Amino acid sequence: SANRKPVFVLVGGTGDLALRMLWPSLAMLDQDGFLDKDLRIISVAREAVDRPAFVERVRAAVQKRIGVDLEATTLDQFLPRLSHIALDASDPQWGAKLKAELGEVEALNVVYFLSVSPSLFKPICEHLESAGLSKAPNRVIIEKPLGRDLASSKVINDSVAHAFDEARTFRIDHYLGKETVQNLLALRFANTVFEPLWNAQSIDHVQVTVSETVGTGDRLGYYDDYGALRDMVQNHLLQLVCLLAMEPPSNFNADALRDEKVKVLRSLKPITADTVRDVTARGQYGPGFAEGKQVAGYEAEKGSPSNTETYVAIKAEIANWRWAGTPFYLRTGKTLPSRTTEVVIQFRPVPHSIFGSAAQPNRLVIRLQPDEDIKLTVMNKAPGLSADGMQLQPLDLSLSLQSAFDGNGDKPPRRRIAYERLILDALNGNNAAFVRRDEVEAAWAWVDGISAAWAEAYPKPQIYPAGTNGPMSAYMLLDRDHRVWND
Ligand code: NAD
Repeated sequence: SANRKPVFVLVGGTGDLALRMLWPSLAMLDQDGFLDKDLRIISVAREAVDRPAFVERVRAAVQKRIGVDLEATTLDQFLPRLSHIALDASDPQWGAKLKAELGEVEALNVVYFLSVSPSLFKPICEHLESAGLSKAPNRVIIEKPLGRDLASSKVINDSVAHAFDEARTFRIDHYLGKETVQNLLALRFANTVFEPLWNAQSIDHVQVTVSETVGTGDRLGYYDDYGALRDMVQNHLLQLVCLLAMEPPSNFNADALRDEKVKVLRSLKPITADTVRDVTARGQYGPGFAEGKQVAGYEAEKGSPSNTETYVAIKAEIANWRWAGTPFYLRTGKTLPSRTTEVVIQFRPVPHSIFGSAAQPNRLVIRLQPDEDIKLTVMNKAPGLSADGMQLQPLDLSLSLQSAFDGNGDKPPRRRIAYERLILDALNGNNAAFVRRDEVEAAWAWVDGISAAWAEAYPKPQIYPAGTNGPMSAYMLLDRDHRVWND
């Protein structure tokens, strides 16, 4: 496939995701010299837009997203690569028409990004297959929601698998494209100081928090069918848990890495109707004040009653030798006071303190949002004299990724869009940062257990006022274990 000409086909090229994320990512890959000089980019969508109007839309979207980091010459190089064709997925000629646009398919190496509703994956993959457009080395990129439970996820994965084998299927979890998430692997497996302590003997517990200040906004129609468990935990939070908890893979191959991740997912202790009220908390935002605005509350926004949770906290236990006895507390929610993505590794206390004041246990805090940084809290002697023994104080060893990689001394590096790395990896055929089918299914199997347990024993979420830290039950979840959230 080395001398085939590369083509990127963006299906859904006029959509929200494409305009906000994908076109800007492609343009920035071009600016940084990562796109083959011959790469053609074809947008396919329902809307008929002529080429000048389409190019103008992409130009505006890239400028809006990238701002001052966009160099003057980038668009001159990028925009000529683009073309747009209007095709409705229900058109029986979809495949033939795309084929005509592509030209001699045997001479091409095509990556398709399906930025459309998953309900269209099946017809589109059928069109691609029947027109002979899905053969190796061609690849496909798809993104969540890959179903709303294990059964529906299998249907979606089957419809894609018919046209593209697993090695050529790239399932995005955009968290895996984030710099700090990638850095978790470097932190764990490129250092000797953490890994010997990375287990239940030294770590008391782990917290993973993904908090959002926004409500459901115009996604409510979609969201009401999913809720926080399916929308956030099944994918993003469990992917973080995998990277935090996995065994060291023997190499950095996509499958070596994903073999270890899937073992973590399969080791998650099932949550049942008997335990669900003790190990999970469900919340839904009610009336309140968030992001400087009055919020009517989820049900008022929806205009009808709903048991969909906008907040979830879970005590997840990994039943294996490394982690037995060290819970992973997960929480995510909407209309919370801050936008934060954070991992806290709480180490165990010293076995015996010889000092007058208490030694606080070490804590490693890995922040992904709003700033990317890593801090290790270390106990120190408080400076100065004291009449009653040595006094201690915690201080942070701190790695700010923004300032650490400040190459030229003044301007911090541009923060990349997660999709830039993922599109680049897909163009290069590297699927290490993409989710394998068995991972998706193992995650759904565990999440389905929680959904079923909720339906039986915990049908109604607790209301929390918008703009507050979530329901009381989330605090009681840790309180029962004599622990507290890192707020
Ligand atoms: P959108 O509705 O804004 O865009 C959909 C695109 O699909 C448009 O280009 C439209 O022309 C095309 N399309 C729709 N029906 C079609 C048909 N019958 N035939 C051909 N083309 C058709 O949607 P979006 O927000 O861009 O999301 C696309 C997908 O990505 C969805 O599955 C969504 O859940 C997922 N997603 C979106 C976001 C986001 O931030 N918007 C984030 C993660 C995942």
